[in-house]
Amino acid sequence: MKTVQPAEGETFDIELEENLLKQNEDLAKTNRKRLDEQGVHAIDILGSIGSGKTTLVQQLVKHVGTAHRVAAIAGDLTTTIDADRIQDVGAQVIQANTGKECHLDANLVRKALDELDLDQLDLLLIENVGNLICPGEFPVGAHQRMVVVSTTEGPYMILKHPYILMESSVLAVNKIDLADAMEVSLEQLKKDALSVKSNLKVVFTNGRTGEGIPELIQALNIEIS
Ligand code: MG
Ligand code: ZN
Repeated sequence: MKTVQPAEGETFDIELEENLLKQNEDLAKTNRKRLDEQGVHAIDILGSIGSGKTTLVQQLVKHVGTAHRVAAIAGDLTTTIDADRIQDVGAQVIQANTGKECHLDANLVRKALDELDLDQLDLLLIENVGNLICPGEFPVGAHQRMVVVSTTEGPYMILKHPYILMESSVLAVNKIDLADAMEVSLEQLKKDALSVKSNLKVVFTNGRTGEGIPELIQALNIEIS
């Protein structure tokens, strides 16, 4: 089969991009420092549109919201649908609208942090824009990254997005109740994920019913006692 791909240095605007990524990285470090100084643990949550990120954020808020002071940043192009849903379960939410950008960047997260009382917070859940490709290139200053993949995305979602998994510590395989209908093997998804990153924590979840949420909380090292 014939394959074409850009050669090294052949991609358009490569210098521009390098410069942009460097600026983003510097801002991400500043965000992290600020979060650390205020004792806020931040989790960047990544996944495609419809993978169930918002539902899992809702479940996390419900489960840890009494033990911890939780807030969320909801990244989206233009709507407030996700932010409204998270607010409905009682968390303070900042809507971060990216306009046309398909990822959150450290600058937008910095602006969202400005709107939060960080010294009144323990945990910050950052729901990134629904996309599994470029958010991986734009760290926002979070302490860890969690990827959400739904069984409805088919059997190859994990193998097609290795880079984002390599930079994450937790993978939630969501909508497990639909695995059979999708003819997707949960064990195979887990095997694929571990072949990409052997120390990845893989958790099976059903955001609608709450199945697997305690295991997810444990995998994220959020203490609830
Ligand atoms: Mg969402
Ligand atoms: Zn993007």
